[in-house]
Amino acid sequence: MQQGIPNDKNQRPVLKKQVYRTWVEIDRRAFRHNLRVIKQHAPDATIIAVVKADAYGHGIQEVVTAISKQVNYFAVASLEEALIIEAIDHTHPIMLLSAALPSEYSAIAEHGFIPTISSYEEARRFAKVAPVGALIHFKINTGMGRLGAFYETAEKTLKKICRLPLTIQSISTHLPSADSDLGYTRQQIRLFRKTMIPLLALAPHAEIHFLNSAGLLRFPQEAHETVRLGLLLYGVAPLPRFQKLLRPAMTWKATICFIHKLPKGSTVSYGRTYCAPRDIRVAILPVGYGDGYPRQVSGNGAFVLIQGKRAPILGRVTMDQIVVDVTSIANVKVGDEAVLIGKQGKHEITATELAAKANTISWHLFTGITNRVHRCYHG
Ligand SMILES: *Cc1c(COP(=O)(O)O)cnc(C)c1O
Repeated sequence: MQQGIPNDKNQRPVLKKQVYRTWVEIDRRAFRHNLRVIKQHAPDATIIAVVKADAYGHGIQEVVTAISKQVNYFAVASLEEALIIEAIDHTHPIMLLSAALPSEYSAIAEHGFIPTISSYEEARRFAKVAPVGALIHFKINTGMGRLGAFYETAEKTLKKICRLPLTIQSISTHLPSADSDLGYTRQQIRLFRKTMIPLLALAPHAEIHFLNSAGLLRFPQEAHETVRLGLLLYGVAPLPRFQKLLRPAMTWKATICFIHKLPKGSTVSYGRTYCAPRDIRVAILPVGYGDGYPRQVSGNGAFVLIQGKRAPILGRVTMDQIVVDVTSIANVKVGDEAVLIGKQGKHEITATELAAKANTISWHLFTGITNRVHRCYHG
């Protein structure tokens, strides 16, 4: 069932009685459910909801509206994303997680967004254009090597920054291996806590945050301050054993547009990597890598769900279409729904599973779903 309203920010032509070729259905109730789960793990924590990259492909406006009552901050990567939030929500402070460009500082100051500051140089540049007392987020590098003042010199840097007329809203670090290296992450957290002692003397009111989704699941005992969560909000667990607690917000579907029989020995798709070992019946789905369906799953045993059964993808994923084997599925017809990510009948294809077949991660899969795919909301 197609429900809800299409997100037509691209000013697509609106058709009467439109049947989408491929679309995602996003269940707003799932966000609320996932936030309840997060609050069970971190009952005392302040929540920074990470909604960068169009809320991981789920649609930033809809997601912000759906979760604003349950979270304390929104965080995005870019100024443009922050402005989108500001236009619909005035109640939450907005953090910018990536380093700002020098040319962006005055707009950040003007709108009262909170920039991520890693050096005295950045702080000085921001202070020049910001009102007295403007908020900043000071980041320290304890192993990610991307942004942040190096932990050994962080105290010196913060001392200098404290002489500027700015307010240290929070101090953070980032965990690079919370989902893969427990020992390293434990050590990193210890290092961060130790580094924080003199920093908190300089900025006693700063909030502290370092737990991302994997970090929260692994170290809930550390979640008594502020947490910075993305993937969990969308209902995907970076550690599979927690998946059953969560509800994925997104289901990705496509409508079968053609069905035909191919005799034994027929080849399928570019490069003819698949050759039918017997007579087969195939369905064509109007979705491909031009929609963000990962081409890398080609030949890796990916499938879609049709009539509640698994239909294997044959040959290579093309830009606009994929070919699936429906030989063993009865009564398949043009117009039927196929599920690419999500549940149908007793089966489910998780984003994690499809991403793994494409040799990538669910974050990448979600953010790769292109604008050609309609976003429909319900719940
Ligand atoms: C994207 C991002 C997050 C969210 O990570 P998840 O693994 O999706 O929870 C947290 N912190 C920073 C700095 C980020 O860039």
